[in-house]
Amino acid sequence: MTTNILVVGGGSGGTMTANNLTMKLYPEIVGGKAKITMLSDSPWHYYKPGSLYVAFSRFFENELRRKQRNLLRPEIDFRVDAVDNFEFASSRVQGRSGKWYDYDYLVVSTGCLPAPERIDGLQEGGDHFYDYQSPLRLADKLQTIEKGRILITVSFPKTPNVPHQCGIAPPETTLMVDNLLRHRGVRDKVEIVYTYPTVAQTVRGGLFLQETTSKVMPSIFDSMGIKYERNFTLDRVDPEAKVAYSEEGTDHNFDILMATPPIRAVDAVVSSGISAAMDDEGWLPTDPETLKVKGLTNVYVLGDTVDLRISKAGGAVHQQTPVVVDNIASEIRIGRPTAAYDGRVTAIAQMGLENGMPLWYDYEHEVQPTPPNKLGSLMRASFNRGGYWAVVRGLI
Ligand SMILES: Cc1cc2nc3c(=O)[nH]c(=O)nc-3n(C[C@H](O)[C@H](O)[C@H](O)COP(=O)(O)OP(=O)(O)OC[C@H]3O[C@@H](n4cnc5c(N)ncnc54)[C@H](O)[C@@H]3O)c2cc1C
Repeated sequence: MTTNILVVGGGSGGTMTANNLTMKLYPEIVGGKAKITMLSDSPWHYYKPGSLYVAFSRFFENELRRKQRNLLRPEIDFRVDAVDNFEFASSRVQGRSGKWYDYDYLVVSTGCLPAPERIDGLQEGGDHFYDYQSPLRLADKLQTIEKGRILITVSFPKTPNVPHQCGIAPPETTLMVDNLLRHRGVRDKVEIVYTYPTVAQTVRGGLFLQETTSKVMPSIFDSMGIKYERNFTLDRVDPEAKVAYSEEGTDHNFDILMATPPIRAVDAVVSSGISAAMDDEGWLPTDPETLKVKGLTNVYVLGDTVDLRISKAGGAVHQQTPVVVDNIASEIRIGRPTAAYDGRVTAIAQMGLENGMPLWYDYEHEVQPTPPNKLGSLMRASFNRGGYWAVVRGLI
């Protein structure tokens, strides 16, 4: 009998998992005892962090995407068929083609979507870099602004303790904006105002979602002349008047509003009926150690779709993948999962256009910020241009 493993989502988590699982279960796969199928809604794989650089005119579309088929081991049966319907009770999913796919083990890695429409006026009045088209528009504005005010806002999911996508992105891009305007010679005529909401996971009234980093940020911003304001939870935007209003009753005018928008899971996950997340956000209830969907014995989830308090970041996916791979392999081989996720996230933050900073944290320990430097930037550049594609192929 063949064990069918179905991976849904051809992004970071799905691709790393499918490739690493193929290597781990190679004897079973060539012997016909296990089979891995991947379903994705696109023939393309996007390196999503590359969108940050689109906003600064450093990356274009062909540099940040590859054909998904070319990233996968040949043993994997890859199909472009978006999943519309998860039927967990009967261990099957339905693709948009109408076809049903049965599974013995399912891995859900469908990521999340930016949802600026969830804040009144943000879609029309704001800009963001969480897909490909939006940062192209932002790039035009950042390249042409001569004077005025750039406002940065950050919106968290309504579900308590779930972070926005890529926790470090707002400070990263604020520093990148500062650097870009200095290169353009207009920094003294453009005010940059970084705001942060009152509630950011466990931090209250801070500037970042972890206490230690939140405390060092004022000194970094002060040294660069970047203004900052705590307790600004974006409530609505008036796109005509170019004013952003907070839930706390304050407001800011802007020439450019660079927002970290609300996010949500994809439609098929939201409508799967097993998420307890608030506001139809759709995060799947996830066992923090096994990475199984709570209440389901044969479904794993990783990446941006989880409801964990850990960063929705590729640096989390990279550490979650071996746990999912080891658990599925050990369930098949010895009948029980063996690996536990400790919440580890590792990444290199882009701190301005020319500096990088390694990040390392887990469920028990916060990031300990270190001075950003040129070596960090070199490592980040290598990851952007080549390292990522080796990681998703399962080579690193
Ligand atoms: C602008 C930006 C900057 C970032 N910067 C960083 C960074 O500096 N460092 C870092 O570590 N992380 C960063 N991240 C986060 C990182 O990209 C994500 O955490 C990571 O991609 C999540 O992996 P995933 O597999 O959960 O989702 P994704 O990589 O988004 O993959 C989801 C996949 O599912 C597919 N899919 C969606 N719906 C369906 C469906 N119904 N059926 C089938 N397939 C479907 C999609 O096409 C996609 O292929 C950034 C993200 C963004 C957007």
